[in-house]
Amino acid sequence: MKILVLGAGVIGVASAWYLRQAGHEVTVVERRGDVAEETSRANGGQISVSHAEPWANPHVLTQMLAWLGREDAPLLFRLRPRDLPLLQWGFAFLGNCLPARAHANTRAIVRLALESRKQMQILRQQLSAADGADFNLAYDGLQKGILHLYTDRQSFVHAVRAARLMRDYGLARDPVDAQTCVDIEPALAPIRARLVGGDYTPADESGDACRFTQALAARAAAAGVEFHFGAFVAQLDFSRGKRVEGVTLQDGRRLRADAVVLAMGSYSAPFLRPYGIHLPVYPAKGYSATLNLAPDALAPSVSITDDDHKLVFSRLGNRLRVAGTAEFNGYDLALNPARCRALLARAEELFPRMRFSGDPQFWCGLRPATPSNVPLIGQSKLPGLWLNTGHGTLGWTLACGSAAALAALIGGESPGA
Ligand SMILES: Cc1cc2nc3c(=O)[nH]c(=O)nc-3n(C[C@H](O)[C@H](O)[C@H](O)COP(=O)(O)OP(=O)(O)OC[C@H]3O[C@@H](n4cnc5c(N)ncnc54)[C@H](O)[C@@H]3O)c2cc1C
Repeated sequence: MKILVLGAGVIGVASAWYLRQAGHEVTVVERRGDVAEETSRANGGQISVSHAEPWANPHVLTQMLAWLGREDAPLLFRLRPRDLPLLQWGFAFLGNCLPARAHANTRAIVRLALESRKQMQILRQQLSAADGADFNLAYDGLQKGILHLYTDRQSFVHAVRAARLMRDYGLARDPVDAQTCVDIEPALAPIRARLVGGDYTPADESGDACRFTQALAARAAAAGVEFHFGAFVAQLDFSRGKRVEGVTLQDGRRLRADAVVLAMGSYSAPFLRPYGIHLPVYPAKGYSATLNLAPDALAPSVSITDDDHKLVFSRLGNRLRVAGTAEFNGYDLALNPARCRALLARAEELFPRMRFSGDPQFWCGLRPATPSNVPLIGQSKLPGLWLNTGHGTLGWTLACGSAAALAALIGGESPGA
């Protein structure tokens, strides 16, 4: 089949790869000048299968009340009374905080995340064997696990409960005491006395999602995938039988295909609205800071999640990426200095002996969030149009599994078969 993939973030590129592997003729259409220029650009760098719980859970409501009115709050809803999609999204989010819904969502995400990790491992082996070089090196990949830290006793008590639930799903997630946290990551030694505990998930991974997407796109291009950059998709085109048969670009060019895959991240929802389709995807703005580490820096090499501040720290070669927080404020991409400062302040608090050179590179991106955190993968209501979008906080974690599932569905198979 001839397939168009709209969007070249980590999801679009992974989709292109798996569709090409399944024997399709694939073209990727991207408005930017390269792959991973938007949300997949500078994210937290975690492949966090064992922490795939959705934001929407009974515990988050109490946390949100405590954060109300704080400009540096980890989760910030800006009041936008005329923003109907946000209001609808907010109500649906509340519904997904009910315990039964949260359990069902967790189960769905964990299943996909486990499949994704399996696909990622196969992909790494396949590409390393083909190149004769470790594919990890292409994206600063580390298989050292993820350590969640708690400096607040209440959160740790909740985490011990959540870890038990994750173990029921077959994931290795073990609560550890403060000293074990330091043994796992010695850069935490200066704040040993402040740690209440942690939980460690040795099978989780980290790396640079942007470099991963670039490296995979290069392999996809070598395998025959065609990329059109600087190509803004203006509209879908339909056959007489009302089947999607291609797209028209802003410059008037028309591209034809047997199937079209929508992987436009947060822009997937506004793109489909004119066709009467209301995807429950809303942009959740997040921030990151990338620091060039000094040679003598005592900085973490195990990826860390600071649960109390909803921040993650990932080592990318000689850089440290600090990322997190979520702000619901439409498609605004301005950098808020208070939120940038909050990232740095917490990094310096947790790692007082971390030194870096030059200015931190601040960035923000729009997570394509669904109220349940479960992504939308499969046939849309429009014949010929397929979805791979809405991956929210876990786009890189879920990318390979989602793309493999999509390729299976388009090929008429059941995913994971
Ligand atoms: C601060 C932060 C930290 C995060 N940390 C992690 C993490 O540690 N682990 C993890 O797994 N995930 C993380 N995420 C989430 C992850 O980054 C996203 O889920 C993922 O990048 C989404 O990928 P995507 O391909 O769907 O979207 P994008 O990367 O945004 O790609 C969509 C593409 O579509 C293109 N596009 C849109 N409209 C058009 C159009 N009309 N025509 C042509 N092209 C178009 C855009 O230019 C863009 O390139 C984080 C996100 C943020 C913001």
